[in-house]
Amino acid sequence: MFQLNSQDRSYKHRELFDAGVEALQGIGVEGKFYKCPICQRDYDERAIKKDAPTDYCLTLEHAPPDSIGGKVVALTCKSCNNALGSRLDSQIAAREQFFRFIDPNRPDPKPFAGKITLSEDPKTTTNVQISGKIGGGINIRAGNNNKPSNLVETHKSLKKIHLSGDVFHGTLGLPAYNLSLAKLAFLKNAFLCLFGKFGYTYALSKPARYIADGFLEKGDVEVVMLQPISGFENNILVCEEFGVCFVGFGDFLLVCPWINASIEKYAAACQTPDSLLGNYKSLFPFEMPLKLEAILDKRSSRKA
Ligand SMILES: [Zn+2]
Repeated sequence: MFQLNSQDRSYKHRELFDAGVEALQGIGVEGKFYKCPICQRDYDERAIKKDAPTDYCLTLEHAPPDSIGGKVVALTCKSCNNALGSRLDSQIAAREQFFRFIDPNRPDPKPFAGKITLSEDPKTTTNVQISGKIGGGINIRAGNNNKPSNLVETHKSLKKIHLSGDVFHGTLGLPAYNLSLAKLAFLKNAFLCLFGKFGYTYALSKPARYIADGFLEKGDVEVVMLQPISGFENNILVCEEFGVCFVGFGDFLLVCPWINASIEKYAAACQTPDSLLGNYKSLFPFEMPLKLEAILDKRSSRKA
């Protein structure tokens, strides 16, 4: 079905590009274009070639990010991918680090950079590498980016604690993340998962543009995260009746507007989201997309 041209960046680029072209044709667009679901710019085949210029280039996009086990579901343009990846997705990775550090049920975090500050001498701060997790033993290694005198003081203080059985008086810097940026990052990833599943019918809808403006920080949007319903942690749940859908990211569900919902209805639903989950029978579950499936676009193309 897919023809890999030796000039293509990869098989995956070709597969997603062709799926996007088909999905776009499914909503009546003529020609062979892939539309970046985020900025809506059109790209032709040149954008997936090995020699594509950086300002005309489509890149593989994971959703959710690979830091929490996501898959490549779509192509986005390089500028969208780079700008949002470093600003937003990095916060999902940092959040995951934090929860891995404190949650015994998650895999161990990667070693991270922290600081030890002594209460008795707050000016003495030591840069350290921390590995392990709370409750499972923590290893702290002083980095070689420290002033030797600070190292000596910190070591003396820690040794005193060790010898006297005293409690450590100081602070240990933990992996930090910015919650509001992490929420916008999850909103972007929910948007991409919904694009992967429902194609341009979703991504070009008014409600989807509203949330895209939110994570592009062109408009205000409230991001609501809920406890998942057990059994549906990694699903997309659609509640057409109330104009919302939920995207499951393992430890929570993110609330998004459904296609054709009015923004007012979505905003109202965000005020009382738990009541929607309580209305269990009105939810329709879909599995998360493993690649660009665009099932709604395909459905409408079959009708045509
Ligand atoms: Zn773009």
